[in-house]
Amino acid sequence: MDTHTFNESQKRFEPLYKKCSFCKTGSNKSKMEDNCFYSVYNVQDRTNLVVFRNVKFKEIKIGIPRCENCRKVHSKAKIANYLTLFIGIPLVFIIPIYFSALYDLGTIGLVLLLGSTFGLVYLAMIGIEKAIFNSYDVKSEKDGAVLEPLVQNFLRSGWSTDRPRA
Ligand SMILES: [Zn+2]
Repeated sequence: MDTHTFNESQKRFEPLYKKCSFCKTGSNKSKMEDNCFYSVYNVQDRTNLVVFRNVKFKEIKIGIPRCENCRKVHSKAKIANYLTLFIGIPLVFIIPIYFSALYDLGTIGLVLLLGSTFGLVYLAMIGIEKAIFNSYDVKSEKDGAVLEPLVQNFLRSGWSTDRPRA
């Protein structure tokens, strides 16, 4: 492994290079705690494909160099996501209840309205996040992570970026 070193206590791969993977500034001085540690999960029992010192893991964090600016943009996007949900989730219930009080929608109408307001809130969240990344010209954590060869290695060996459901 020439791009990363494994940190046993934190169960994570720490990058040995410092060029930010998320922006085009070519920033070459990512600090360890600014780095993005992206989790990959072992979904099937195929650990034998990726064995690190005979220890089996279900989740490993892979460090991707990230500059301070990109770390800030990523946390801005996360805050925006929480805000959208904070405002949006009450609307998912208020709007359908309001309209069903006004008009006789029936159960099916209510369910449809619930579904579509939920969809709108979800689309708003994705849209706002995209707009933030576009305006700073920064890749999302996932878009940057999947370009990392070590992440690609894990994905090819049957690991996933999605947390397995219990
Ligand atoms: Zn950057």
